[in-house]
Amino acid sequence: MAHKKLVYINIDGFSFSYLERLKRKGKAGGFQRLQNDGFLFTGLRSGLVSITNPMQSAILCGAWSEKTHNFYQHYDLNEGRVIKHKRTFCAENAAQALLRTGHTVASIHQFMLENNPCREGDAQCAYFRCGKDPSDSRDRFALLKRMALGQAVYTGERKIVYSELPDFTAFYIDDIDSLGHNNAYGPYPKRATFEERQRDIEKRLEVIQQELEDFVDICKQRGLFQNMAILITTDHGMTPFYGKSSLPDLLVRLNGAGIKATLPEMRTTDTQVIVLPYTIEASLYCIHPLTQEQRQTLLKVCRSAPYMQQVLEKEEMRHRYGMDSRGPDFLLCPHAGSHFYHKDVSEDTFGASHDSLDETSQHIFGMLIGGKVRHLVDYPEAVSAIDLLPTLLHTQFGCTMRDSTGKIWHGWFEDNQSMERIGAFE
Ligand SMILES: [Zn+2]
Ligand SMILES: [Zn+2]
Repeated sequence: MAHKKLVYINIDGFSFSYLERLKRKGKAGGFQRLQNDGFLFTGLRSGLVSITNPMQSAILCGAWSEKTHNFYQHYDLNEGRVIKHKRTFCAENAAQALLRTGHTVASIHQFMLENNPCREGDAQCAYFRCGKDPSDSRDRFALLKRMALGQAVYTGERKIVYSELPDFTAFYIDDIDSLGHNNAYGPYPKRATFEERQRDIEKRLEVIQQELEDFVDICKQRGLFQNMAILITTDHGMTPFYGKSSLPDLLVRLNGAGIKATLPEMRTTDTQVIVLPYTIEASLYCIHPLTQEQRQTLLKVCRSAPYMQQVLEKEEMRHRYGMDSRGPDFLLCPHAGSHFYHKDVSEDTFGASHDSLDETSQHIFGMLIGGKVRHLVDYPEAVSAIDLLPTLLHTQFGCTMRDSTGKIWHGWFEDNQSMERIGAFE
């Protein structure tokens, strides 16, 4: 019996809204062909806070920040400063779990696995980067395709030829996120309008569709596909925002209601509430617990602000989103288009980011294909990003990640029963 292979492809910043747009324009043919070998998740959700490193780690270990301890940043009340979580990753990830159970794993630019456990020069758990720096999706797919073709690939100085693929390969590209933020990127300048930028994104998604189809063709031609599962997904979407920041107005409203609120760097002995903005959302940290009356006042002030979409409280964040206990007391999310960025966006352009509860950030792309994946075409269930790898490790390898809390879904594969039995003997 040939070994099962799992390839996990993460296309950073792939909002489900991009796919809908591609479909409307008749440019999603590649994804639709791929979908015929399995299914598209049409109800897949990102999490809290939907920023790259927290979400990449959450997907990789199947758990939220209560386990990973990464939700991008927090305000430490005792130290009186903002702590960035960078690559903090306190939970067992898929590569570690598979390595522990005797499998070979590899990462191609999946940076959250770099030295955790994938290392350059280690054949059992190799880390690969392109010779070219910076590299884009085409360079990275070239490496993945070489690997699938059984050609030599280099991890550091060490040459490896995989007769088949590693048991688990994590592959990461970030073109779509960079374009989505409306940054200058490669040949693309920063654009004035959202429409212009959408065209850049569509063009690059067409390239990525072609690369994915080429990779799948190679796997089919080499007889690998029959035992493979390929998960293609993302960490979060992207939400555009415009014009003046609502941050100054929020501070005025809170202080006007008698709540002494300041930015972290402006904290004084009088400060009651620290307002920590990121790009779209802002977090509130209470220096001392608020009285019931103060809490009601704060909620009323925040919820009545014309730009506010949602105010989440700590308990809800912990229960619904598995938020780390060091998380904020309140998380404020404005309506799509508004933002709490530390500066205004100039009128001749727009900004975009994904720390937002708007659907454009929360509803994300996901697809599962493979030789034994059920041909369901669409899978409409409300699957969470943290369910994906726990389910795939369970069904493909009979392996459980130590800290995972994601749900194990049944019915993604044909003949689920026998696959689990095989897994148990590996
Ligand atoms: Zn990202
Ligand atoms: Zn981003």
